[in-house]
Amino acid sequence: MAFNLPALGYSYDALEPHFDARTMEIHHTKHHQGYVNNLNKAIEGTALENQSLDAILRGLDMNNGAVRNNAGGHWNHSLFWEILNPEDRGILSGALANKIDETFGSREAFKEKFAAAAMSRFGSGWAWLCVHEDGSLHVNSTPNQDNPLMPGSGCTGQPIIGLDVWEHAYYLHFQNRRADYVDTFWKVINWNVVEKKYEALTK
Ligand code: MN
Repeated sequence: MAFNLPALGYSYDALEPHFDARTMEIHHTKHHQGYVNNLNKAIEGTALENQSLDAILRGLDMNNGAVRNNAGGHWNHSLFWEILNPEDRGILSGALANKIDETFGSREAFKEKFAAAAMSRFGSGWAWLCVHEDGSLHVNSTPNQDNPLMPGSGCTGQPIIGLDVWEHAYYLHFQNRRADYVDTFWKVINWNVVEKKYEALTK
C-alpha cells in the first residue's frame, strides 16, 4: 500500500509572521511530497511494501539509501507538521514540564541544549527530543533524514519534538540565520500536541 502526503491541517500562512507561507507551501508540497513519492518507488514490489512506516524504520537496512532517506523524510516531516499546528498551542506545562525541569535543570536549560543540538548539526539534519523506553528524556540530532526510530540512532523510544534544520526549512525567510530560526521555533511549537505524545509514551 502506497504512502500518502498527510494534510497539513492548517493553512500555509497560519504560522506567519514566524514561519512564512511560501516556505511552508514549498516544504510541504515539494519536499515532503518528494520523500513520499520516492519512498513509494523504493519499496514498490519489495517486502517493505506492506509494512507500516514505523516498522520500515525500526527494521531498516541502513545500507538501503533510498529507503533510509525517504522513509526518514516522510516520518520526520509528518511529526514536524503535527507539532507546528497553531490551534490550541498551549504552553509547556504539566508532567512534561516537570520532567524537563528534572532532566535538564530548567525549561531554559532544555531549550539551550536543544538549540545547541540544532546549531551543531553540520549541514542538513534534525534536532530531537526523545523519550526513551525507560521514560527518560534525551536531546540529540541526526544527519540528513535519519530518524530516531532507525537502528543505532541512540534513541530507544520515540521522539516527541523534531526540528528540521535543513536550509530548505528556513532559507527564504531567515537566510543563513539558523539560530534565529531555532529561536522562532519556540514561538510556533504546539506544546499541547507534544505533551499528549509524552503522556501516551509514559502512561
Ligand atoms: Mn524539510
